[in-house]
Amino acid sequence: MKINVKKTIIIFLILFAVIIAIDVIFLQNNYYEGTFFKMDTNITIRGEGENMDLAARDILTAIDEIEAEMSANNIESKLYKLNNISKENELFSDDFIYLLNLSEEIKKNSGGAFNIALKPVIDLWGFGGNYPKVPKDNEIKATLQEVQNTIIEVDANNVSTNGKLDLGGIAKGFAGDKAREILNIYSPSYAILDFGGNIITYGSKPDGTEFKIGIDNGEGNIFATVSVKECNVITSGGYQRYFEKNGVKYHHIIDSTTGYPAENELISVTVLSDSGALADALSTACYVLGLEKGMELINKYEVESVFLTKDKKVYTTPGINIEISDPEYTLQ
Ligand code: ADP
Ligand code: MG
Repeated sequence: MKINVKKTIIIFLILFAVIIAIDVIFLQNNYYEGTFFKMDTNITIRGEGENMDLAARDILTAIDEIEAEMSANNIESKLYKLNNISKENELFSDDFIYLLNLSEEIKKNSGGAFNIALKPVIDLWGFGGNYPKVPKDNEIKATLQEVQNTIIEVDANNVSTNGKLDLGGIAKGFAGDKAREILNIYSPSYAILDFGGNIITYGSKPDGTEFKIGIDNGEGNIFATVSVKECNVITSGGYQRYFEKNGVKYHHIIDSTTGYPAENELISVTVLSDSGALADALSTACYVLGLEKGMELINKYEVESVFLTKDKKVYTTPGINIEISDPEYTLQ
């Protein structure tokens, strides 16, 4: 038999190209990535799996549902109605009641540092709106008094309050829990979600290694990475949302004892937990409490954490798998 070498090579090349093309199309079909603006922040959904696009669609719907009920700034939400219009007997979902109860538990365990009733103080500062401002000191004191007198009544799914509530410190973490439930249904091989700095990892990476999540030093650079399997990695820090007035930065996490943005030795607190809602509330609470009391609170829960101080010291719980990449930062 006579072999036409040129023809054979061409056929092989074509076959090779077809195989590569099929591979690329196949991989592209399985890999999903999308960025959206939700919950007042950028969220990114990435993952690989046959139905990852459907999972993403359902996750976005779930977030919309959470916002429609729980956003204190959306004038059409149920919480807005409770805060501003009805004040009583508003019927909420089981999810909302769960978050309310968890918030109250963390309020108790943090000595009031985490307090969803701080909404009137947050409004004075204008956080959540377009016109932030520095309030008068006497206004802050008077409003704090109001907050102290807030009563929240829960009867089954009915909620009443004489104050105003804000789930901003916990709802985004909870959205991560909802997202995980959805991922469990579609079971992609892995997914990494970023809800405005809250990282949710699902499944396992193709190369079998753990997910490495970078932690910001407060100036937009990563100083360390934590290695995790399936987890929520949630950071609170004053650098994330703030406004500037006369050269002073005012951030959005309020010290419940002063009514001013929390100010202590901390840059940030990162909490790692199976529960996004818990990690979110604890990170906010610890940021208010400071290093020592924050660690005491962390030790009441089965979570891991990383506290970063202004003098570049890094304090962690013993069970964490952390790697410091910037030599200016020291592990304590
Ligand atoms: P982010 O939502 O930006 O990730 P946090 O989880 O730390 O940050 O939550 C901050 C939000 O929580 C604020 O924007 C506000 O809505 C609310 N908040 C501020 N201070 C407190 C506090 N002491 N306790 C509970 N919620 C708070
Ligand atoms: Mg939080």
